[in-house]
Amino acid sequence: MSKFDYDLFVIGGGSGGVRAGRVAASMGKRVGVAEESRFGGTCVIRGCVPKKLMVYASQFSKYFEDAAGYGWEVGERSFDWSKLVAAKEAEITRLEGLYRKGLENNKAEMMDSRAVVTGPNSVRLQATGKEVTAENILIAVGGRPNHMVEMAGHEHCIVSDDVFDLPRLPKSMVVLGAGYIALEFACIFAQLGTKVTVVYRGQEVLRSFDGDVRSHVHQEMEKKGVTFEFGTTIASVEMDGESRKVTLSNNKVLEADEVLLAIGRKPNTETLGLEAAGVALEWDGRVAVDEYSRTNVPSIYAVGDVTDRVNLTPVAIHEAMCLIETLYKNNPTIPDHELVATAVFTQPEVGTVGMSEEEAAEKHRDLKIFKAVFRPMKYILPGREEKMLMKIVVESATDRVLGIHIVGPDSGEMAQLLGISLKMGATKADFDRTMAVHPTAAEELVTLYQPSYLVVDGKRQD
Ligand code: FAD
Ligand code: NDP
Repeated sequence: MSKFDYDLFVIGGGSGGVRAGRVAASMGKRVGVAEESRFGGTCVIRGCVPKKLMVYASQFSKYFEDAAGYGWEVGERSFDWSKLVAAKEAEITRLEGLYRKGLENNKAEMMDSRAVVTGPNSVRLQATGKEVTAENILIAVGGRPNHMVEMAGHEHCIVSDDVFDLPRLPKSMVVLGAGYIALEFACIFAQLGTKVTVVYRGQEVLRSFDGDVRSHVHQEMEKKGVTFEFGTTIASVEMDGESRKVTLSNNKVLEADEVLLAIGRKPNTETLGLEAAGVALEWDGRVAVDEYSRTNVPSIYAVGDVTDRVNLTPVAIHEAMCLIETLYKNNPTIPDHELVATAVFTQPEVGTVGMSEEEAAEKHRDLKIFKAVFRPMKYILPGREEKMLMKIVVESATDRVLGIHIVGPDSGEMAQLLGISLKMGATKADFDRTMAVHPTAAEELVTLYQPSYLVVDGKRQD
């Protein structure tokens, strides 16, 4: 009989924590999982899931507009924000229940409590003050939005956690930042009828994405009525009656019903007791782990956003599954963070896998770039001027496809499947010998026979 209360104690009932806890319990391990808020974590309660539901809701305005081109007459229409919030709440509550059930069915013990680490093998539950022991502890506490507390008037602003339950649909919104969260919400609200201004310190959105993707998304968002203020940031926010007066660092003043700060996230490691237990943290508070997700304290592991490797739900789950292999199947497994396909649910959507042209030019020097910008068939009859972008980055020497970048309808779905071909090491010749599916937008990917231009020794040749 083990001298510990649990074989594995998981702190955090989100994507990574629930997966590790459920699978370990299904193998007969004695597992405890503590969650201080709601089981399901960021993804289910205040991230991917409610966000995607709101993306769907916001797309209807475009569908209604385009319907006339196909002969439909759509009558009077209106949108009720509170109905959407209620429907979203019902769905995340259902999913939260499934997460709980998965743990319960496998006999993992759930604790609705904040937990803190008190030693290499001990954890205290704040709800009861009880201390429990475990052979291994898994830190899966995720992250939280940066509230920019150094900015005057930050208390008048909202972060992504607040967006899902706003009491009413704002008429106007200023969004700070131009990453995933900022742009996804800018598009959601713009499509629901809010006047949106994105304020960004840089000169182009979505830093670290392919250059063509960045400018394409920005231009298409502008066509949909989103305004951009580049090269500036928010200096202060003051209340002006019910609305907010937003002063930018370039002295411009904006008025808005809401100000959304979407400037990145911080790991949830403050007051978690890790330092006292001897666990090393990086400068920004993320937990330092080796390639097997183990901290410098051999009994303590960490997965997911709290380690800030690739902050996506499937990655947190994959890291958890690798940990199960390592800890309980005598099969040490290193998580694979290469060629992670991803989507940004802007409107139009981004789907991407592999290297941007800029990164590939830096690393591989000689490239063939295949690119198409076209109006998808779906938009012709409605007269919608929205363009789709498809781009394939190929290493000249080997013909290997290094990256694919798409902006347009269903590009997230395409990225998922393209991820498989890139993982298998597909060459451009493999794409060329693949028969097109017609008529689709995706057929462009297998009919781009001539390079649009070359990159030689890192420089574009026109
Ligand atoms: P989390 O899911 O954050 O879970 C951590 C849990 O730990 C939380 O429930 C928290 O309450 C709990 N906790 C924290 N401290 C304690 C403590 N001391 N004691 C007990 N419990 C504690 N990813 C995608 O792949 N696709 C998307 O479309 C996508 N959209 C997103 C949209 C938004 C708005 C946000 C914010 C994120 C989005 N993400 C998306 C990222 C994704 O949500 C995260 O990468 C993922 O949830 C990380 O999982 P995790 O297990 O590391 O942490
Ligand atoms: P991101 O890192 O994507 O973007 C942060 C943005 O804020 C950038 O534009 C950044 O600018 C800017 N910024 C950072 N600090 C400041 C500052 N002090 N002042 C002004 N601007 C600042 O973070 P997000 O919060 O948008 O998202 C967090 C993570 O969550 C993502 O990286 C992603 O991993 C995950 N996520 C995934 C989604 C998906 O899969 N669809 C959706 C939502 C989130 P700069 O670029 O100049 O640094």
